Amino acid sequence: MMQATQPMNPPEPLNPTSSQPLWHKGWYRYARALASPNFGPRPLQAPIDLIVIHSISLPPGEFGNGNVQRLFCNQLDWDAHPYFQGIRGLQVSSHFFITRGGSLWQFVSADERAWHAGPSSYRGRSNCNDDSIGIELEGLEGGLFEAPQYETLAGLCAALLQAYPIAHIAGHEHIAPGRKHDPGAGFDWRQLQSSLAATDQGFPLKI
Ligand SMILES: [Zn+2]
Repeated sequence: MMQATQPMNPPEPLNPTSSQPLWHKGWYRYARALASPNFGPRPLQAPIDLIVIHSISLPPGEFGNGNVQRLFCNQLDWDAHPYFQGIRGLQVSSHFFITRGGSLWQFVSADERAWHAGPSSYRGRSNCNDDSIGIELEGLEGGLFEAPQYETLAGLCAALLQAYPIAHIAGHEHIAPGRKHDPGAGFDWRQLQSSLAATDQGFPLKI
């Protein structure tokens, strides 16, 4: 089998500055900002009321190599691993990415439309990229996630709830059933729900 992919630190983030407000034009103060070219405008007056939770690792099951950050910035070396052949040329993004250690990265302003959902439908509306915020957890679909990831996720969701009219939190598997299976059975929805209940007075998590 192939060795783990190359060296690597992820591309350098822009300098986060502590003088910024919690949210600045859709960018979260506590995320390491790394701008992706893969985004566009949301439809006018789109109600941003859905958070979509995903899992990702490249190649699947290998963590901490910077490849997810590269993918979202169109900088992944497609020849670096056989798995990448199957996704060659893919142009995607997510608003946020949470590493196994709980580090938070942001690639697209939450005010803009990221490309994480694909064909999808939820709460009676299709094309969920239009009006959702995508959060990728570094992980293997169906596998378990780390405690620091839940901590960062809960904090991020709480901050999003303050800034956007979030009414639903769902997995990719719920908005594209049959086509997508992430984050999968290893994700603990009840843990997220209890974290949000503690910080947000019983926000109803809808899955
Ligand atoms: Zn996904």
